[in-house]
Parts: sequence; C-alpha cells; structure tokens
Amino acid sequence: MEKIPEIYGKLVFNDRIMRDKLPGDVYKALRKTIKKGTHLELDVANAVAIAMKEWAVENGATHFTHWFQPMTGYTAEKHDSFISPTDDGQVIMEFSGKELVKGEPDASSFPSGGIRATFEARGYTAWDPSSPAFIKDGTLCIPTAFCSYTGEALDKKTPLLRSMDALSKEAVQILRLLGNDDIESVITTVGPEQEYFLIDEKDYAKRRDLIFTGRTLIGAPSPKGQEMDDHYFGALRPRVSAYMHDLDLELWKLGIPAKTKHNEVAPAQHELAPVFDTTNVAVDRNQLTMEVMKKTAKKHGLVCLLHEKPFAGINGSGKHNNWSMTTNTGINLLDPGKTPAENTQFLIFLAAIIKAVDEYADMMRLSVASAGNDHRLGANEAPPAIISIFLGDELTAVIDSIKNDTFFKRDENVVMETGAAVIPHFNRDNTDRNRTSPFAFTGNKFEFRSLGSSASVATPNIVLNTAVADALSDFYEVLKDVPKDKLDESVHALIKDTFAKHERIIFNGNGYTDEWVKEAADRGLDNLKSTPDVLPRFIADKSINLFTKHGIFTETEIRSRYEILLENYCKTIHIEACTLREMIRQDFAPAVVKYMESLSRSILSKKQISSRISTSAEEKMLEKVSAEYEALYVALEKLDADIEKAETMEDGLDLAKFYHDPVFKDMEKVRSIADGIEIHIPEEFLPYPTYSRILFYV
Ligand code: ADP
Ligand code: MG
Repeated sequence: MEKIPEIYGKLVFNDRIMRDKLPGDVYKALRKTIKKGTHLELDVANAVAIAMKEWAVENGATHFTHWFQPMTGYTAEKHDSFISPTDDGQVIMEFSGKELVKGEPDASSFPSGGIRATFEARGYTAWDPSSPAFIKDGTLCIPTAFCSYTGEALDKKTPLLRSMDALSKEAVQILRLLGNDDIESVITTVGPEQEYFLIDEKDYAKRRDLIFTGRTLIGAPSPKGQEMDDHYFGALRPRVSAYMHDLDLELWKLGIPAKTKHNEVAPAQHELAPVFDTTNVAVDRNQLTMEVMKKTAKKHGLVCLLHEKPFAGINGSGKHNNWSMTTNTGINLLDPGKTPAENTQFLIFLAAIIKAVDEYADMMRLSVASAGNDHRLGANEAPPAIISIFLGDELTAVIDSIKNDTFFKRDENVVMETGAAVIPHFNRDNTDRNRTSPFAFTGNKFEFRSLGSSASVATPNIVLNTAVADALSDFYEVLKDVPKDKLDESVHALIKDTFAKHERIIFNGNGYTDEWVKEAADRGLDNLKSTPDVLPRFIADKSINLFTKHGIFTETEIRSRYEILLENYCKTIHIEACTLREMIRQDFAPAVVKYMESLSRSILSKKQISSRISTSAEEKMLEKVSAEYEALYVALEKLDADIEKAETMEDGLDLAKFYHDPVFKDMEKVRSIADGIEIHIPEEFLPYPTYSRILFYV
C-alpha cells in the first residue's frame, strides 16, 4: 500500500503544487488574491490555468468543470473537455485563464426563487481561488460562485464569502481598537462532524420510500433499538470498517483531513469528523465528503443514508458545526487568554456571540430548517428547536462575577479580579458534558449542533458570521470615540452590560425537559417547531435589515431564498405523501390481503377437517388485521383527499402550512396504523425489508 503522506492531497491543486508549478511572481500574485481577495489580472490567471491544466492532465484528467453550489443544496457541475482540434486532425489539450476565471453554464433549471426570468436564464460562475481545485473522476473541479447576470447570488458560496468578509471587517475594527495594530484579517474556521447511516443496497433497492425520499415512511420498530447504548463507540463490524477505511483513503487523496470515525448511538449509524478548515473550504469539503461517502458505499454494496431521519424511533443524523475565529496572526479568538489583555479580548468576542445568538436566535433556527430536520429538533435526540447557549459552569461563573462586580474564584489558590482577570484555559471535560444544547462552548470554539446531516453547512455559517459581525459592529459604535485612557473602563462596562442584557439565552441545564420549554417561554425565547413556523422570520424587517446592512443578501435575494425554501418544503412533503400512498397500495396492502387470505384459508380448511379443531387464534388475528386494515383505508382516503387539495392550492406560506398540517399529520396517521399491522404480518409476506433486517444485518 502507498504511504498515507504520499497519497494525501494527491488530487488537489494545493499550495505546494502551486509553488512548484507556477513562476515566482505568478505564485505571489495568486497568494495575494487568496489571502486578501485582491483582483487577479488576466495574465496571472492564464499562467495559473496552464499550470493547473498540466497538473490535471498529468493526473489523468481530460475535462474541467466549474463546480458550484446552487440552491438545490447539492453541488452542480458541467464538464468540458480540454481538447481543442488542430488543423492536421489532431488535438491539443487547452485551458485558458478566461475559462478558469469565469464560466457561463446554461443553468436555467436551478431554483432561483423568481430572480431570473427564463429569457435571461444564463447565470455565470466565478472562480473562488481560496478553495483549492481538485480532480474527481477524471475531471478538474474548480470551486466557483454562481450568480445571475445582474449580479444576484444564486448559490450558497457567494453569501458565505460575503459573510466571512463582513465578520473579518468588524472583528479587525474591534481588535485594532484594543490595540492590535498588526491584525489585518480574521477568518472563521469550521469543523463539521458528519453523521450517517449505512445499510445494505439490496435492502435499499426494495424500499421505494428510501429510494424516493431518503427515509422510511412506514416500518414498525425492531424489538431492539438503541436502548442498550451498545452501538455507540462499539467495535466496527468488518464491512463497516472496510468501508470507513476506503472512505478515509478517498478523502485523503482529495486533501480532506478525515480524522475521527466511530459508531454512533443508533444501530447502523456512524460519524466522520475532519480536522477543521477555513469556513468556505470546510463547506466545499463537506459537500464533497457527502458525495464521496455515497459513492464509496456503492463500491461496498452499501448505501449511505444522509437523511436527517431515515428511521422512526431511533436517532436521526445531524452535523455538529464547530466554529471559531482566528486572526491572520494565528490567534484563536475563542481561546481564553493567558494575560489580562487576551482575557478582555476573549470576553468581548464572547459577549458579541452571546448578543448575536440572542438577537438572531430565529435566524439560527431558520438556518437549519428543513422538512427532514424538523423530525429531529425537539424530538429529544437532537437539540430542541429552542435556541440557547451552553457555557458550562466555569464560564457562567466568570460571567456572573462580571455582572455582579464580584470576584471570580476558580479554586483555593487562584482568585481572579474581573476586568483584569485571567480566565484559565478550560478543560474539555468541564465544558462539553451537555449534549442537549444547540450551541455549546467547547473550550476554544462553539459547537452549533442543530444542523441536519444532509444540508450544506453554508447557511448556518452565513447566519452565524453575519449575526456576530453585527454585534461587533454595534460594539464598535459604542467604543470608537472613547478616549484611550477610558477604553478599559468602557470595554468592561460594555461586556457587563451585554451579559446582563442577554443572559436569557444562556442555559446550562437539560434541554430535553418540559420545564425548559416552559422556562424558555417565560424568558421570551422562541420555540419555532417547524419550518413553516420559522420561514416568515426570514422576510421580516429585522432579518432584511441585518443581511442588507452587512451586504450579505439584497432584499431581492432574501425574498427569492424564502420562496425557494418554501417550495422545497412543500415539494418534499408532497413527494413523501405520494410515495407513502403508493407504497401502501402497491406493496403493503397486497401483503396484508395475502396474509388475510392465508388466515382465511387456514380457518376454512381446519373447519373442513373437524369442527373440534380450534380456529380461534386465526380468527382473532384475522379480525384484528381486518379491522386495522379498514382503518388504514379510511386514513389513506383522507391523505388522498388532502394531497388533492394541496395540488389545487397556490404556492406560498399557506400551502407550506397545509403540508405541515393536515398532509403531514395524515401521513403520520397512515403510518401508525400500518406499523400496527406490520407487526402481525410474517416477514415472508412483506415485499420490503423490516427495520430489524435493515438495521441489524449489515
Ligand atoms: P467532539 O466534539 O466529538 O468531542 P473534537 O472536539 O475532537 O470532537 O472536535 C470536533 C471538531 O471540532 C473537529 O472537526 C475539530 O477539527 C474541530 N475544531 C477544533 N478546533 C476548532 C476551531 N478552532 N475551529 C473550528 N473547529 C475546530
Ligand atoms: Mg462534537
């Protein structure tokens, strides 16, 4: 086997290769563009294109593509070959700076929420040099942003880059004010932990619910679920282990630093975590990771399920978005410092985050809202739909002492005065125990835990970056004209004031309890349970002001995204509802009828032999199944009627609400009756595998 360091990043046009391949001045110009976002001259782009093509061709590539992230939530690519025919009937491989920098896919079929009329359907893609190009299946993939001809963002990368810039600008202002003249930029970093399920492809192929919707729409719980907690961190089964090994290799080749892998809580559930990266690179890599996970599974006769809730009754899958901010000088701003000055700096950024999350909790909730993720949030397996912050006892004590002007006493020997106090580095053990919190401080970063497993991590980071940028900009307004000799005092007052104003968002207790739901309501915190509940917040003035102020979205972009989110929600439930009724009619009901027939035959034939042979067991079963089958049919007719009604309704929030209730409720009803019948039906009668088969036989 090849050595890992040799294969690592083999398929990435990374910094080392750029340095090797590019003339010195070109390399320098490119680095400057990557680091500072400066404009790249065409001659530089041409030189980069030539080097990139040579490298790609040497590594087996024949095509290139602008790789982008339209509002579908997936990545998109359109491949062009490098070949260019010559007069003598040969071809040469060509690639120009112009082709590298800009593309014009005819991308009229991507969701645009009404931004693009069909007559101006072309969008364009623009190279993001800060995310490295890579080779996938013989194609050089160039990460790009995707915009309309009039400049509106049609993707997730553009606003993400804007939000990183906004945060950098505001953070640098504050840092300079605090005397850090050497700091030029601040980047945000993200490490997304990815959960997933692995099931056998033969099982998958037999279930149209998994095929069409990514989740099971019916299926009785298996006798054993996750209650023994024996799967979590358990030994990997050989097939799973082989898959994970292969996956690591594929990811490493793409320069994706896959680091941790383990079994998760639910049977057949696993997790993969990479080492963190700059946010936009981490987002691209997470998209690529999800793609490679699925592809690698196929090679092993498995299917990788990324849906947020593939199976009822056991945990669904999420993504933990570990997030922090680092200066260009390498300081992690969420690392509590060793000196009083570092300490103040940490506290001011902490205060900004607390203010940001409290003021824009609804936007945080919005950023993780989807039909799939609605199954998890608030279902006592993932954080509740109520957004709050977990700080841990130690940090909460620090904050309390600042609020109350008392002394923070860490232990017998160390007494710290607030304002000029040194906050110790935290032990992870002190900070990471609470798994029920949506947004937890974990030593030197925050972990946003409400994300769904299948979604791009771009949107949560757009919101987080923007909200924190906004809080920092408010702080700057308060502090900017304060004379130098009064600055310490003012900073202290600002921190104190912020903690006092926003303490309602801090909650260190168990987020799964009913008491918390009540208490959160008393504190005035939102509990936005479903996607239709939260979506209107996106087009409220507060949201429009936030995003337009920092140049993240124009109002048009917000409204178009709102439309896309609504539409996506409606379509998802519509497909699920149609799949469910088809599956009941074409797979499930015939199985039930066959079983009833076989019971009837048994009763009749027994009776023919002798009236002394009891048929009461069969009769009881037949009676029960028949009765439930009747009920199933009634529920199915109600579902039919509501689907039909939905199909005649106009698009919009009312339709989304209609899909949530009654359509989704109808589905639940059908499901609960079907699951009740399924436990009576012998496995051989069922045309698709049960939960027990799927979850315990890989
Ligand atoms: P867990 O949360 O499961 O205990 P770890 O704390 O080891 O796991 O790490 C979770 C993720 O947090 C990893 O992807 C890691 O790279 C990432 N991480 C660590 N430091 C930072 C940081 N400063 N910014 C963003 N992510 C980080
Ligand atoms: Mg974690």
